[in-house]
Amino acid sequence: MRHLFLALALSVSLFVSHSADAAEKLKLLIIDGQNNHNWQATTPILTEFLTKTGRFDVSVATTPPKNSPADAWSKFNPKFSDYDVVLSNYNGEEWPENVKTNLEQYVSGGGGLVIVHAANNAFPNWPAWNQMIGLGWRNNKYGKRVIIDDNGKKVLVPAGEGPGAGHGRQHEYAIRVRDTQHPVTHGMPAEWLHTKDELYHGQRGPGQSMNILATAYSDPETGGTDAHEPMIWWIPYGKGKVFTTLMGHADYSMQCVGFQSVVARGSEWAATGEVTLPLPKNFPTAEKLSSVE
Ligand code: ZN
Repeated sequence: MRHLFLALALSVSLFVSHSADAAEKLKLLIIDGQNNHNWQATTPILTEFLTKTGRFDVSVATTPPKNSPADAWSKFNPKFSDYDVVLSNYNGEEWPENVKTNLEQYVSGGGGLVIVHAANNAFPNWPAWNQMIGLGWRNNKYGKRVIIDDNGKKVLVPAGEGPGAGHGRQHEYAIRVRDTQHPVTHGMPAEWLHTKDELYHGQRGPGQSMNILATAYSDPETGGTDAHEPMIWWIPYGKGKVFTTLMGHADYSMQCVGFQSVVARGSEWAATGEVTLPLPKNFPTAEKLSSVE
């Protein structure tokens, strides 16, 4: 009898801990629907690799297409508070005021927001958004530029000085980790090669409270700025965290094992403040690219 009771108790506790594991999956919402990039191709890639980690339940909210009537937009009203983290793969028309306010409240209340590549091109006229992303694809008069000098120091370039947003020719380039202690970048090689992508430069904005995790050298030989441009950073917004990576122009760029680790670990960290996802064994190195497929 006693044994039976123990066995029962054990199986119940196993069942309970199993359900707890399932409940620990983070709910992640991708937003897409408009972009000057092929979001129809990249959202499935994001969904697949995030799901494969086993850490996320991924949902997608798609906005109406460009020039839709107001009643189509009234149906776009994601309940951000149902999610642990929101990932923007969106670059298009401004969202309705109530959606913008909801996102601001969600992040300031402790929600996580992840910005991938051209998502930072969106919403130049939304002040809270610019605060959250720090730097966006804007002209050089728009705001500050932030770079890292040769001594590893953060330099804020005033509005009007130096280049505005742009990129040179697509190429493979080295990501240089600037914060080796941050949970997202911890354990990564000091430098690792990223699969062919655009290397954004001259991004502009308020540039406040930017914690830069990694940069890339923008080489004039490929049309760059001769500066170390920020590639991965995070910004606190109220109680929430906004995590940005400028990588991820196209499907092939997103197949980089390094990119996928950055987005998955960045999403987990923006949601929880911790990273449990390990770096894969085939993570790229300073000498070797690594792509899925
Ligand atoms: Zn691009």
